[in-house]
Amino acid sequence: MTEPKHFQRVLIANRGEIALRIQRACRQLGLETVAVHSEADAQSRHVLEADIALCIGPASAARSYLDAEAIILAARLTGADAIHPGYGFLSENADFAEAVEAAGIHFIGPTPASIRLMGDKITAKQTMQATGVPCVAGSDGPLPTDEQEVLALARKVGFPVIVKASGGGGGRGMRVVWKEEDLLKAVALTRKEAQQAFGNPTLYLECFMQKPRHIEIQVLCDTHGNALWLGARDCSLQRRHQKVLEEAPPPGIPPELIADIGQRCAQACNHIGYRGAGTFEFLYEDGVFAFIEMNTRLQVEHPVTEETTGLDIVCAQIEIAQGKPLTIKQEDVQTIGHAIECRINAENPFSFSPSPGPVTKWDLPGGAGIRLDTHITQGSTVQPYYDSLIAKVIAHGATRTEAIRRLKVALAEMQVEGIETNIPLHQALLEDKGVLDGGVDIHHLEHWLEKRS
Ligand code: ADP
Repeated sequence: MTEPKHFQRVLIANRGEIALRIQRACRQLGLETVAVHSEADAQSRHVLEADIALCIGPASAARSYLDAEAIILAARLTGADAIHPGYGFLSENADFAEAVEAAGIHFIGPTPASIRLMGDKITAKQTMQATGVPCVAGSDGPLPTDEQEVLALARKVGFPVIVKASGGGGGRGMRVVWKEEDLLKAVALTRKEAQQAFGNPTLYLECFMQKPRHIEIQVLCDTHGNALWLGARDCSLQRRHQKVLEEAPPPGIPPELIADIGQRCAQACNHIGYRGAGTFEFLYEDGVFAFIEMNTRLQVEHPVTEETTGLDIVCAQIEIAQGKPLTIKQEDVQTIGHAIECRINAENPFSFSPSPGPVTKWDLPGGAGIRLDTHITQGSTVQPYYDSLIAKVIAHGATRTEAIRRLKVALAEMQVEGIETNIPLHQALLEDKGVLDGGVDIHHLEHWLEKRS
């Protein structure tokens, strides 16, 4: 007798490498896929390979991948009974998740209530504090409108501080303030930007940590009360708050410390009734973890956790949405060896200007421990309308040294023509002493780039 599947056809509300990643997971689970795409992506690999493909709008993301109504209508028209939102676009939009469920379609992700709770960074921090997850010191709530009160709060936290938008995301809507006399102007400016970018002027304030590492915990929770943490990732190599290279496990952090914070994250998940995959992001300095935010979706860097745990996070997301209990327990989750991911972007490696266009040569690396997640094929065109991520090169090895060696060979093997990529940046970074030693802070890459120029 075959097991009941709960749903048969999954609509993938995304594009690029992650759409293909999700499509593969669906196939492995015997599910049909629906690709919804913009006019610009009509020839994209996952669209051509989908069981059903539907164009939902022009190139502009606002009129295609962000058009919730068009996506839900497409699900209805194609008989899709579940939607996977991927990352970015509508993946952390609680209204979208709610509309999907109201239409009688399974949302492959957390409940709308969890997305809403964690989408507001102030309520997220308050919830974490209440469940025993340590947070970055700060205003413990929205910034008041009274200027004297704001000044008093910042003095209490201590300069430098970082002013952040409660509804912010994607590295936008925050400003570092070094001196008291700059505070009120910075608050006014950030408030205006937050209103414009996120439609929410609410701000909060945190102590600006000067040499932290960005460490995050991956969680996976079913609907039967089982919450697991799947180890930690180090995503400290960032430019403009955007991750460039990620690895698991974080070098040099005692496993007991990671286990302690991991358990707290799993407990917090149980507390809020979290469902599906999620990530708790922390700043880590001097042996202390401090929560900054939770991402209620699949992350770009999930493969490094998959490679070190041997688990398939996307398949697990789908099975959780089907109501299946997790088949593993916390003691079954192990971290085996080391994995590093390089985000390959279509951009100039040092000026970072985007480099869209046709890819005339696309030779991919291979061999032991190398995984490539990409939607690009020779002859495809990198579109100028979306983010510039075109591939992820993931190397796994028994040790960090072996993973780095494999990664270097893979990057040297990868041949791309027609567009520029940041492969030379990754190659240069893999010669940097700080990166080779491991454990650099979140400002390392920016400082390294300044020194080069
Ligand atoms: P977003 O949702 O936009 O990604 P986050 O709150 O996750 O915003 O912060 C993004 C990045 O900004 C972090 O990875 C870190 O590099 C930096 N950052 C955020 N808060 C602080 C802080 N309190 N001190 C120092 N750096 C910070």
